[in-house]
Amino acid sequence: MPTPEFAIQVRDLRKTYAGNGKMPAKHALNGITLEIPTGSIFGLLGPNGAGKSTFINILAGLVKKTSGTARIWDLDIDEHPRQSRAAIGVVNQEVVADPFFTPFEMLELMAGFYGVPKAERRSVEILTALGLGDKKDAYVRQLSGGMKRRLMVAKALVHNPPVLILDEPTAGVDVELRRLMWDYVRELHDKGTTIILTTHYLEEAEELCDSIAIVDKGAIVACEPTARLLSRLDYKTLIITPREPVTAIPPELAMHDPKLRPDGTLAITFKTAETGIGRLLEKARAAGISIADLSTKSPDLEDVFIALTGDRAPVKSTG
Ligand code: ADP
Repeated sequence: MPTPEFAIQVRDLRKTYAGNGKMPAKHALNGITLEIPTGSIFGLLGPNGAGKSTFINILAGLVKKTSGTARIWDLDIDEHPRQSRAAIGVVNQEVVADPFFTPFEMLELMAGFYGVPKAERRSVEILTALGLGDKKDAYVRQLSGGMKRRLMVAKALVHNPPVLILDEPTAGVDVELRRLMWDYVRELHDKGTTIILTTHYLEEAEELCDSIAIVDKGAIVACEPTARLLSRLDYKTLIITPREPVTAIPPELAMHDPKLRPDGTLAITFKTAETGIGRLLEKARAAGISIADLSTKSPDLEDVFIALTGDRAPVKSTG
């Protein structure tokens, strides 16, 4: 099959979960239209409850959409349910591993499930690529948490899908393992796999994704290359640590609306196109502030998110 321009194309995708006696109906997706180019690492970023899993589960065939259309690898999911699903591998958050199978056996089972002929199976190759080559005959219960996670990725790759979807790949995972997972994602991407990942970690999207769609309340509020999304905000914050505590905003700086922070520092947010740092420092000196230390902060995705949605930002990763 020729490589399509877009790995995923969805138009006006909607999902309403029916209510029951106690729960009202829930509009989880309110008309998502999105094109994900082949070859990208695309991030769906949004807080919990935004609709990310619903979106992915519709593509994976696990949730029935209410309306709209979706194409995976140029195959409509209604017209070609089996073929379109064969074009994606989905890694969910849960680690589902039968403790009595070995990783090799699990991959063979999965390959059988997808109808991959024995001669075309690559179980050992996939396990090796994910650093599990020497564990291929171990019992799954003997694997560490990180190894089990990698096994879940391996399972999603048995049918050699051109598109890999990772739903919150590093949720609840420690910093070290998170970095390892990121390396694997980059490796798979380098080998030609289109990657789509959902995350509520800003740092993860910023680090990995070439484009990011921000999802909030079942709608896309932004969809842009990562760099452009970040450059949208043409401001910086200058943080001045004075030698002597500043107790009131000096009139010389008042027009810049500085914030006096509880730790005694002064934070001045300024438009980079309009004001230079030098000018701000001159004013600070004119106000009699003796500067012990200085730093600047560029806007990150958290700031972008607040600017776009006016809402609480997703959890800031500590990794
Ligand atoms: P995310 O993955 O971004 O956290 P979800 O897609 O899981 O978001 O959820 C979107 C919204 O739909 C949430 O308000 C959630 O409570 C609701 N929801 C998800 N699954 C179901 C379901 N099976 N039945 C009813 N409501 C659901």
